[in-house]
Amino acid sequence: MEYISTRGKVGAIGFVDAVLMGLADDGGLLVPKHIPQLSADTLAQWQKLSYPELALELFSLYVDGEIPREDLKKLVDDSYATFRHEEVTPVRRVNNNLHILELFHGPTFAFKDIALQFLGNLYSYISRRTNSIIHILGATSGDTGASAIEGVRGKEGIKICILHPNGKVSKVQELQMTTVDDANVLNLSVEGNFDDCQRIIKELFADVAFKQQYHLRAINSINIARVLAQTVYYFYAYFQLAKQGQAGKVNFSVPTGNFGDIFAGYLAKKMGLPVNKLILATNENNILERFVNEGVYQPGEFHMTYSPSMDIQVASNFERYLYYLYGEDAATTATLMDGFKKEGKIAIPADKLKQVQADFVAYGVQNDECLATIGQYHDEYSYLLDPHTACGVAASEKNTAADEVTVALSTAHPAKFNEAIELIQIEQTFPPQIEALFEKPQHQTLVGGSNDEVKAEILKFF
Ligand SMILES: *Cc1c(COP(=O)(O)O)cnc(C)c1O
Repeated sequence: MEYISTRGKVGAIGFVDAVLMGLADDGGLLVPKHIPQLSADTLAQWQKLSYPELALELFSLYVDGEIPREDLKKLVDDSYATFRHEEVTPVRRVNNNLHILELFHGPTFAFKDIALQFLGNLYSYISRRTNSIIHILGATSGDTGASAIEGVRGKEGIKICILHPNGKVSKVQELQMTTVDDANVLNLSVEGNFDDCQRIIKELFADVAFKQQYHLRAINSINIARVLAQTVYYFYAYFQLAKQGQAGKVNFSVPTGNFGDIFAGYLAKKMGLPVNKLILATNENNILERFVNEGVYQPGEFHMTYSPSMDIQVASNFERYLYYLYGEDAATTATLMDGFKKEGKIAIPADKLKQVQADFVAYGVQNDECLATIGQYHDEYSYLLDPHTACGVAASEKNTAADEVTVALSTAHPAKFNEAIELIQIEQTFPPQIEALFEKPQHQTLVGGSNDEVKAEILKFF
């Protein structure tokens, strides 16, 4: 399997190189040159597989022999052995039309563990194979940092430095990152907001000499390995419904920020999984809802919401979809992205909008509606939704016909976002792993928001 850039200026590279490259060198995103097509027979056989077995089959298609099968199997098995649920991502029936796909049974209680447990093990494997140290550098608004640290803590050959905005992540997210005491982890608590952290990281990655000297690697959701790892649970959830005779019209509702998770669903559908509708849920930061409904991709005003992991204006994975929307035409994709940089928007013609609306339906959830949904499902079904999941559930209510079933992706455990749950007077019991965090000492270095200060700390650590 070869990987190419959505902007067409990176020669075909293999899986490992695509993972290491992260963002394509021409500024585009890496995509597989051909999307594997699965027959109905294959799908029927895969229905019997456990989660790790299914993950191994899917990864095998994309790794394409670059990693020996036994090694890949060990990587997959190790990655999902850390999950607390034997099914890894269980599906819970809520009512006739709604099932919830629980993606939060990993070490940090958010769905990002599914990809980052694997990516952490993969980096460690590559480090051993190439006999080189891998330095991971990233910025987080909360979930990614905790999950990435958990994916590589204590692993030989890897050092990780994560920047988070001081005092601007949830308490549990902060504790998950800073109570880790492994020597290969550095938490920098930056004076500033998430955008400052993101900008510093971007500028450090743009420093080519620095990047090459330290083999800097990224963990953000544009990494192709993350997208591939996330296709697995779409198949797995569909198969669980099929086994119960429920595989009529199956929709998926996905709380969306950077378009990574829902792009994985789009890819699963393109591979042949018979998905009915992909429901794209946003919060009040609704650039993607407006794109699907109106055909214009243009950032709006920033809103603070109860689902901070979706408080995103420019969706970093969106370019991958654009590439497929335009028939895998890299030149047009590059022109559109260039136009976006210059004019701050992309407007698509009516025929393309028709295609978009065949691929997705979209719904943006207001803050009060998010809280009301949490309250309603708690009262009616005794099921406590986290605020991100609640957006997906609210969007599924608007878009599920009587003869359809929607699988709503639950991207985080409610304990991670107790700040919102408390607002509607619901008292939750924290899982013991989260409760224990409050007793542990924290390890973090407070730094000012300039590149030089951050770089000095990073150099000391490396
Ligand atoms: C990251 C995240 C999302 C958004 O996922 P994208 O892949 O960026 O669309 C949704 N919910 C939670 C809890 C997250 O951490």
